[in-house]
Amino acid sequence: MQKTKILLDENDIPRKWYNILPDMPTPVSPPLNPGTKEPIGPKDLSPIFPMELIKQEVSQDRFITIPDEVRDIYALWRPAPLYRAHRLEAALKTPAKIFYKYEGVSPAGSHKPNTAIAQAYYNMKEGTERLATETGAGQWGCALALATTYFDLKCTVYMVKVSFTQKPYRRSLMHLWGADVIASPSNHTDSGKKILSKDPGSPGSLGIAISEAIEDAASHEDTHYSLGSVLNHVMLHQTVIGMEAKEQLARVEEYPDYIIGSVGGGSNFAGISFPFLSDKISGKHDVKVIGVEPTACPSLTKGEFRYDFGDTAGLTPLLKMYTMGHEYIPPSIHAGGLRYHGLSPIVSQLYADKLIDAVAYHQKEVFEAAVTFARSEGIVPAPESSHAIKCAIDKALECKRNGEKKTILFNLSGHGHFDMSAYDSYFSGNMKDSS
Ligand SMILES: *Cc1c(COP(=O)(O)O)cnc(C)c1O
Repeated sequence: MQKTKILLDENDIPRKWYNILPDMPTPVSPPLNPGTKEPIGPKDLSPIFPMELIKQEVSQDRFITIPDEVRDIYALWRPAPLYRAHRLEAALKTPAKIFYKYEGVSPAGSHKPNTAIAQAYYNMKEGTERLATETGAGQWGCALALATTYFDLKCTVYMVKVSFTQKPYRRSLMHLWGADVIASPSNHTDSGKKILSKDPGSPGSLGIAISEAIEDAASHEDTHYSLGSVLNHVMLHQTVIGMEAKEQLARVEEYPDYIIGSVGGGSNFAGISFPFLSDKISGKHDVKVIGVEPTACPSLTKGEFRYDFGDTAGLTPLLKMYTMGHEYIPPSIHAGGLRYHGLSPIVSQLYADKLIDAVAYHQKEVFEAAVTFARSEGIVPAPESSHAIKCAIDKALECKRNGEKKTILFNLSGHGHFDMSAYDSYFSGNMKDSS
């Protein structure tokens, strides 16, 4: 029997996260206070984040211990399986070997609980009673709602209004896990009221919802804010993905030539690639690392590398990142998790230093790849993850043309069970490309 699924034991769940900060050839530029333009310090962040996460944000320790309480919860679905895509390879008639790490096995169906669990844990430890956050399509809101149930925290999710009405099942899931879900823009915050007074029918955006969640956290003593991507500590927590994948590939004596991940804020991409990038930086292994984004929101391939706000209202610190501009409202594509104007400062700096590559695709070609994958491997991929699939297929076909037996690893960041209306739209022929 050919080996299809490479599994690890519970004991093989990583004991430490990998922190890439001390290994970066060019250090990341510090976040700036928007008023003074001075680098912000721990005191500026303490109203909204617990101290442990603030420390992780700037830590120069290469490895950071994962608390036992967090590992115990990871054990409900980790180590996540690594698959060899034999059937996809056969369908493409490629000599390349394709492997994918599947993060859709978490209760929320994506990689996002890897950081949500850690963030809820540190907040619980430091006495936080409630977490406020934003969500676009709902994956992050679901992950945090799930995480807060494990630690008896309350959870308030500001959900972008169009998704609130169009994605009822992710909303139901957040309710099931005990979260309060509020359509954003809302009357709960000044930022929300300001938008509503100008535009009562506003469909909302991720940038607006972030402003509301931060304002909620900053104005309530018992409440902290939680972000599902972009920040350094989020990239850190996601490295369990790549650390496991590296061990799994080692067990079948493989090392990837290509590593591919979709890029929204950069966290699942960081998670799969950083543990391998450390080998590239140290000169141990050469590997081509590719981030994949939608042409509708091409921060890496078309954005500018400069300081910008993380939200619409300008409440966040300024981050140096590839950005489309904080007032950019991306066209409403089905990969809602990739509709963010900015990007992780770490991923941005690595791109500026040419350690990683990027490519952008239109949504119809992405769905075509998703269908090829579902009809060969069976798993229904999330539209976000399908960006990585499209790139992996392109690389496999390139290997076929060149007769090369390369090894390709991509991250299947989540399943698409709540995205069936997007598949319906693709099959009906109504799906449009925009750029
Ligand atoms: C949120 C999400 C993404 C994009 O976010 P990153 O922080 O870039 O990983 C990708 N895939 C899935 C399934 C998501 O839920």
